Amino acid sequence: MSHPRLIIYQELLGAPIPLSPQELYRSLLKKQKKIGLTSIYRSLDLFESLGMVFKIINGPSVKYKLCEIEDHHHHIICKVCGEAVALNFCDISDWSKKVMESTGYQVIDHQFYFYGFCKTCRPLKI
Ligand SMILES: [Zn+2]
Ligand SMILES: [Zn+2]
Ligand SMILES: [Zn+2]
Repeated sequence: MSHPRLIIYQELLGAPIPLSPQELYRSLLKKQKKIGLTSIYRSLDLFESLGMVFKIINGPSVKYKLCEIEDHHHHIICKVCGEAVALNFCDISDWSKKVMESTGYQVIDHQFYFYGFCKTCRPLKI
């Protein structure tokens, strides 16, 4: 990994919650590490394509977090604080079958997210 990518990776590694490219940029800047937004976007795209990070789209916000599980899995994301928890299971075989039957497509991959309110934010929403 080249130097800026390594720095971005380490920043994500130390982040307890998902970060947007802008947040990454600002927190690196605070540490006297000036990496251009374009490099940050490019590195995040690369990490995502390698399955090292996952991208959380929540309305207009896009954030990234490192994946702690290497195998195929999904996440549940808190709509309020943005915390993401990995779900180390995936059981959508019936659903894939329905998609294949109704479209004739051969399903090779899928992506989806669960959204909700985490234990901390839940009381605020009731
Ligand atoms: Zn993950
Ligand atoms: Zn929350
Ligand atoms: Zn899955």
